[in-house]
Amino acid sequence: MRPIVAIDGPVGAGKSTVARALARALGFAYLNTGAMYRAVAIAAREAGIDAGALVSAGDATALEARLRPLLEAISIELAGDRVLLGGRDITAATREPAIGDLASRLSALAPVRARLQELQRAAGAAGGVVMEGRDIGTVIFPDAEIKFFLVADVAERARRRWAELTAKGVAIALDEVRAELEERDRRDAGRALDPLRAAPDAIEIDSTARGVEQVVNAMCTRVNTVSHVLKGLKRA
Ligand code: C5P
Repeated sequence: MRPIVAIDGPVGAGKSTVARALARALGFAYLNTGAMYRAVAIAAREAGIDAGALVSAGDATALEARLRPLLEAISIELAGDRVLLGGRDITAATREPAIGDLASRLSALAPVRARLQELQRAAGAAGGVVMEGRDIGTVIFPDAEIKFFLVADVAERARRRWAELTAKGVAIALDEVRAELEERDRRDAGRALDPLRAAPDAIEIDSTARGVEQVVNAMCTRVNTVSHVLKGLKRA
């Protein structure tokens, strides 16, 4: 079986860009688990569930009760960079900052995590996949053969995210992007369930001063070394 490559890390460390490029270089599938949480956020918004208000009111039980049927029926497909919800292309909406924020709030809830984790495990079980998120190396695939934890300085992460949004025509101040990013990291790292954390056996890579190609090359070398060792073990 081909290996599973887990890439976890905070907002804006470059996970999507490098995970996509690494998958292409290795001929592996690419799975962005954050996009699945964003799809749930969009489904909740479309169902008229005022998740923000319920979360602010601390009413997780009411929110979970409203989300349950939606989660049971949900159909999320990741087709390359496209995200389909019930067969409909929702890619553009997944990138809205408000959806990132709502996804992060909803991702703290047990029924949301349980449903998406089930789908993620099924999608990666056959191996030959690069999967990015927050809990891939710690919870989804704790036995993944290769784990990376991608980090970068907060100022650089904010700058990159701001440039990305600006290029898409979203008018937003750099300070605002940085505040949103810090808030989301604080929430993701501080939640009780599957918090953002490096697995003890993850290789940490700092992308602050390194280009995409450099990071991807370092990752590729590591994957090839591990694959080679695994093949050797199988033969022995
Ligand atoms: O990676 P991305 O920023 O698109 O993820 C959106 C949100 O989904 C994150 O802020 C996090 O709260 C949640 N998430 C998660 N576990 C994952 C992937 C994303 O909790 N494996």
